Amino acid sequence: MPSKNFVLGIFGGGQLGKLLAIAAKRLKIKTCIYTNSIDSPAIYYSDDFIIGSYLDKKKLNIFIKKISIITFEFENIPFSILKNLEKNIPVFPKPEILKTLQNRISEKIFLNNIGVRTTEFKKLKRNKLKSLDNNFFPILAKTINLGYDGKGQTFFKNKSEIIKYKFPNDKYILEKIVNFTQEISVVIVAYKKKIFAYEPIENFHSEQILRQSISPARISRNINEKAKTIAIRIAKKLNYRGVMCVEYFLKKNGDLLVNEIAPRVHNSGHLTLDSYNISQFQSHIRSVCNLKFIQPKKIKNAIMKNALGKNIYKFRERKANNKEFFYDYGKMYVKDNRKLGHLTKVY
Ligand code: AMP
Repeated sequence: MPSKNFVLGIFGGGQLGKLLAIAAKRLKIKTCIYTNSIDSPAIYYSDDFIIGSYLDKKKLNIFIKKISIITFEFENIPFSILKNLEKNIPVFPKPEILKTLQNRISEKIFLNNIGVRTTEFKKLKRNKLKSLDNNFFPILAKTINLGYDGKGQTFFKNKSEIIKYKFPNDKYILEKIVNFTQEISVVIVAYKKKIFAYEPIENFHSEQILRQSISPARISRNINEKAKTIAIRIAKKLNYRGVMCVEYFLKKNGDLLVNEIAPRVHNSGHLTLDSYNISQFQSHIRSVCNLKFIQPKKIKNAIMKNALGKNIYKFRERKANNKEFFYDYGKMYVKDNRKLGHLTKVY
């Protein structure tokens, strides 16, 4: 058990930070949130918080004086900032891991180098668009850094479309569209000496935003094992600590390609709150705070739906029964497609 004065610092104040702070409180671990926005639901559930820019050295200095270790709820914190903080305080997962994974190209190169298959990709070179192979299309162009929920992504059916398009710079990855039959994800938790994989979750996206997740995923035993084995292997190669989520595309012929890795708790893992004895949030807190490993056990099947934008009003009006669990993140502003809550049904 960490000492009485132990405080877990969390970068980011959104729903993931909030659910982490709640999980920490249950384990009697104090938290301090660092966020750049007043619209940060996590600050109401933590013991302390600071609102400031992620580049504000003065405020970051105050933050590290308050805390014992740092973790984060999102992966786009500048590497140099985390690396600097790490001189004084442990950071989990390690900043180097974040550096590799927050860049879609270095992430794929790392995966391919350890023998894990990904989507076919190329770095954008605006002056070489004409030499792209027609067979490479259709494609999605994604910003190399900083993209989430489909932000910074553009679809191109063919070469003539992309030639006409005005990219502001070359900081894009071009990814061949995968004709997948299913999307699945595996949430793992890595302690110092143990790694556990939650059961694969099946995910449904629309406009590149996760809408719904179900557990168990409707996949064969072979694919189930393969997905968990790959995720554990990636975590081992990264020498990972904490929760991480690997997102896959499953093709008709059984090929499993990694789409991306989230070095943090993940939206698809929200259903673990009500379908496992130890959720992804509890697992993350336990592992980064170096608590004893407890093997999560699945207790129910589950289906999770995201409440996006104005849909949150319908979710709020709906009466839940005793198999339904509604989480209202309590964000101030309702914006189109913003993740504002979720509902999990267990069965
Ligand atoms: P991402 O932000 O890369 O996770 O993309 C969000 C979602 O967009 C994915 O979960 C897929 O539904 C879709 N998507 C992204 N990349 C591809 C791809 N190369 N081929 C097909 N669908 C994709």
